[in-house]
Amino acid sequence: GIEIYQPERPNSRGFDLTHAPTLAMIDEARGPFKTHSWASGPLLAGPTAPEAAQPVTNPANGTQTGTVAPSSAADIETALTNAQPWAAPAADRTAILNAAADLYEANFGEIFALLTREAGKSLLDGVAELREAVDFLRYYAENIPDAAPAGTFTCISPWNFPLAIFTGQIAAALATGNAVLAKPAEQTPLIAHFAVTLLHKAGVPATALQLLPGAGMVGAALTSDARVDGVAFTGSTATAMKIRTAMADNLAPGAPLIAETGGLNAMIVDSTALPEQAVQAIVESAFQSAGQRCSALRCLYVQEDVADDLLAMLKGAMDALSIGDPWLLSTDSGPVIDDLALKGINAHVDAARNDGRVIKELRPPAGGTFVAPTMISISSIGDLEREIFGPVLHVVRFRSRDLDQVIADINATGYGLTFGLHTRIDDRVQHVTEAVHAGNIYVNRNQIGAIVGSQPFGGEGLSGTGPKAGGPNYMPRFCAPDRQQAPS
Ligand code: GLU
Repeated sequence: GIEIYQPERPNSRGFDLTHAPTLAMIDEARGPFKTHSWASGPLLAGPTAPEAAQPVTNPANGTQTGTVAPSSAADIETALTNAQPWAAPAADRTAILNAAADLYEANFGEIFALLTREAGKSLLDGVAELREAVDFLRYYAENIPDAAPAGTFTCISPWNFPLAIFTGQIAAALATGNAVLAKPAEQTPLIAHFAVTLLHKAGVPATALQLLPGAGMVGAALTSDARVDGVAFTGSTATAMKIRTAMADNLAPGAPLIAETGGLNAMIVDSTALPEQAVQAIVESAFQSAGQRCSALRCLYVQEDVADDLLAMLKGAMDALSIGDPWLLSTDSGPVIDDLALKGINAHVDAARNDGRVIKELRPPAGGTFVAPTMISISSIGDLEREIFGPVLHVVRFRSRDLDQVIADINATGYGLTFGLHTRIDDRVQHVTEAVHAGNIYVNRNQIGAIVGSQPFGGEGLSGTGPKAGGPNYMPRFCAPDRQQAPS
């Protein structure tokens, strides 16, 4: 049967962006941060000795958003030496993490400005991201398991959800009483720094939460030291595998690795689907957040009988998208995160264009690292050799009698994160959702934006180790395995 998760308290309300006075209020609150310059660096329970500061730039236009002083080897040592599990009673941890959630909500103007100017997020994305971060804090604060913490947890987070996933990992580790060494993505140290200052202000002790911005070397050091008891990682499958090896060589046997990695996510639209509903879900799933979600739709399977009509509608919907400066309220989709991402995505699209397989592309705006939404025809999801982390949708036409082969091809990728199905045949819903291997399956809607507490998020196979974030099985993994069963 289907399990229904009941959140302990309501999710964050967020903001209604269709309400003009709300928009005006947001614009006023973020206004002072349009030209503000932030500084990030290590936040340690001891003296810091970081590397020379470097610029952090806005992916939409290359202007400077702030600076970051990366953590040095000495900083890493200081953090490891001073880390102390958070010994406060569970009720105090609950109160402090809830207070941090309130501080996040109160600082929405600065947070939206940071998300836009550091990570290229539109306001729509920013609102969803702040809500998710707040939901993680409150959900974990309210659902602390009765178990001892693992000890010291390294949390390594990605740039695509620089507030929500950064906060979610930390909140789960702190709620369960661990010491946290937080290593934010190299591209997004500023919002991480702001988040940690809010958590400290709410009452999380400096010894329980230390911030170590920097490049991959910092993460490598923090996942290969015997003083670390567990790792939470969200990022690429390749990096997760390196972390697993480093942990096996250096950490205690049984130290948990909670990895949430990539996906090659598919959607099937059959001839009974409602076309308007499917087109809206496709546009949101493939192009929102410039396609930079691990949940995003990468490969659309559309039944041959309706493919011409559906793709014509989809092209029209793509034409209506506004790509550009994410600070503007009219922008649907902003830039991709940096030059490296831009080059990798463009190389993929260029190769498809040379083969004559690009069936729709918009023109990217000038300046900034923009990739315009693009649609590419392929013959099977198996043609994709890697996850293209941007607004690029691949389309396959299938015949009804080949449905089981389509499912087999989707499963054969080895990934299993999200999957979407649009159909009005009940038996087909049952058959397809049982046969497809994916952590999060969505029927007759989009396949992004899992809600904390009611849609725990995470994949299987190459997509991650589980357990799902924002669900009841997540926090026990941050606890000491040998003491989980002990009577309290
Ligand atoms: N939880 C997010 C969603 O459902 C995706 C997380 C990610 O991209 O890493 O859209």
